[in-house]
Amino acid sequence: MLNAVYSGPFVTKAKEEFSNSQNANIQKWSAYVSGSVNRQEFLECALDWVSKGNVGDYMSKHRKDKNIDELKKYFNTVIDWVSRVFTDVESEMRGLEWGRLYEKYHKKTYNPAKISAGVHKLYGDPYIKNRRGIFEYILSGSVDTKLLDIRIFDEAIKRSVYAKQTKEAETKEISNCPHCAIGHDTNKSKIWSFGEMEADHVSAWSKGGATSAKNCEMLCKTHNRAKGNR
Ligand SMILES: [Zn+2]
Repeated sequence: MLNAVYSGPFVTKAKEEFSNSQNANIQKWSAYVSGSVNRQEFLECALDWVSKGNVGDYMSKHRKDKNIDELKKYFNTVIDWVSRVFTDVESEMRGLEWGRLYEKYHKKTYNPAKISAGVHKLYGDPYIKNRRGIFEYILSGSVDTKLLDIRIFDEAIKRSVYAKQTKEAETKEISNCPHCAIGHDTNKSKIWSFGEMEADHVSAWSKGGATSAKNCEMLCKTHNRAKGNR
């Protein structure tokens, strides 16, 4: 990415700061930036953040600059902001799009103690698959559960899948539990109430199946439990 086209005082100075394994800040930066100093990945990250992803444009404009003040200041501002908002360092923080998150959320005020408690709570939740999504989930007000890839279907999905399945079952005069419907006992045509059913992932969550309406099937409790905890 940083090819010879950009060589000049700006790149020289930038490498001194961001591609220098002697820099005392490397350890702190490593908590948030992935890659290696020697391979210029920290420099690439700093440029990506300051340029909002338009590194080429940024370099064309700044390659002849005699200082890297803006680059350095912006990078440190982002890092300081992250470390102030999230007081605990978690390994999943490394390599997140902190530049984008800073731009989107830095004007909001956060209570670091509350944030820390929130992070711990979510880290203890076995139903969350995407821990890397925890940080933006919290920054954005803890509402967008899609960021977390959660294993539990929400009430609205369950209700709508139940309604659809039940309507179809009533038309065909079979059970609204698809497993009961293909069985031979008296439950073959039983219409279970919503409270008697549980949501199941058609394609297993543990194998990447989404927690979406499309991948949701309501089963009677007996059949859902027989399928095992997956
Ligand atoms: Zn059943």
